Amino acid sequence: MDTYDVVVLGGGSAGETVATTVARGGKSVAVVEQKLLGGECPYFACMPSKAMLHSAEIRHRIAGAPAHGAVSRPLSLDEGKLAYRAAAARRHEIADRLDDSAHARELRALGVALDEERLALTTLGPLDRRNLPRELLHH
Ligand SMILES: Cc1cc2nc3c(=O)[nH]c(=O)nc-3n(C[C@H](O)[C@H](O)[C@H](O)COP(=O)(O)OP(=O)(O)OC[C@H]3O[C@@H](n4cnc5c(N)ncnc54)[C@H](O)[C@@H]3O)c2cc1C
Repeated sequence: MDTYDVVVLGGGSAGETVATTVARGGKSVAVVEQKLLGGECPYFACMPSKAMLHSAEIRHRIAGAPAHGAVSRPLSLDEGKLAYRAAAARRHEIADRLDDSAHARELRALGVALDEERLALTTLGPLDRRNLPRELLHH
């Protein structure tokens, strides 16, 4: 049975930073993440929201191109629904198609142990060892 100096609960930006720092410091570390390594930022928050804002900004600039003297006539733009669909598809690409394997590879390369079963810890308050993945526990 493996034991670790540190077990990080949640593999989001904060958890990844802690795990990486601990591993680089020479301590053994495991991460318990219930959904996607990387947390909300790359898949649902920072990256996808910036992708949508970028698409909107480009569309806005194209619409304003004649007023800025960039073109002599108005450019024809897709209707909003079609453009939104294209922007959402790009957002999905930017969000790595909700694939966290690159995050997993980077952590494993540093020797960080990952909970493959994507278990969730469900206890509030002090940790109860009965809720920890078996492979993370002492006998
Ligand atoms: C729309 C939007 C845009 C944003 N844009 C930016 C930006 O441009 N720049 C910026 O710096 N920040 C931005 N943020 C904020 C950023 O997303 C958060 O600050 C960051 O994700 C917080 O990281 P975290 O690790 O604390 O939490 P999270 O990313 O939420 O990670 C926590 C992880 O813990 C896991 N977890 C939770 N409970 C359990 C459990 N019981 N057992 C196992 N695992 C568990 C979750 O599945 C999750 O993966 C944005 C947020 C939003 C909503």
